[in-house]
Amino acid sequence: MAISPEALEAAHLIDRLERLARAGEQVGGLNPAQWEALRYLARANRFSRTPAALADYFVSTRGTVSRTLASLEEKGYVVRSASRRDGRSVEFSLSRAGEQMVKHDPLVAIAEHIEAATGGALADVLDRLRATLRRAIAHNGGRAFGACYTCRHFRAHTRPRSAIPHHCGLLDEPLSESDSRAICVEQEPATA
Ligand code: SF4
Repeated sequence: MAISPEALEAAHLIDRLERLARAGEQVGGLNPAQWEALRYLARANRFSRTPAALADYFVSTRGTVSRTLASLEEKGYVVRSASRRDGRSVEFSLSRAGEQMVKHDPLVAIAEHIEAATGGALADVLDRLRATLRRAIAHNGGRAFGACYTCRHFRAHTRPRSAIPHHCGLLDEPLSESDSRAICVEQEPATA
């Protein structure tokens, strides 16, 4: 496929932004893998916080992910518990200290620059970035891990008067407004 100079420049810009975000990760004494795991746990829904799901997301091995989670547990940033869906497995969530740490995530500084540069007019950019990510995932193999509200199993406002108004058609589970924004290991894009 012929690649336009603009497509190549966009790839370089994404790479540069990623490096700038990485440079800020020295704050807090966490390595890049630990930051990624904290970020993931801050965004993932309750069905997606097992070592297996993290390994799928990072295209890594469960052993590597388990070591990262164990080190975060030792530092007091994550908490381990039995999985609610599979009693033989464990799941992780952010501790109070972990929640505080992600507030200082260097990626937030990048988001602030994006907000300042675009005024928040990002719907088109987001659509195109999602489409790019879908293609990259299809090429490399792996799961989409998109936001719940973009999933083909998401049923909006099935209980309009409830505090948990939405529903997952796949897992037959109620979903809150914040669940609808979380990422999910089972997510399947509504639009291919
Ligand atoms: S609707 Fe999709 S993304 Fe949301 S919880 Fe169900 S499977 Fe996961």
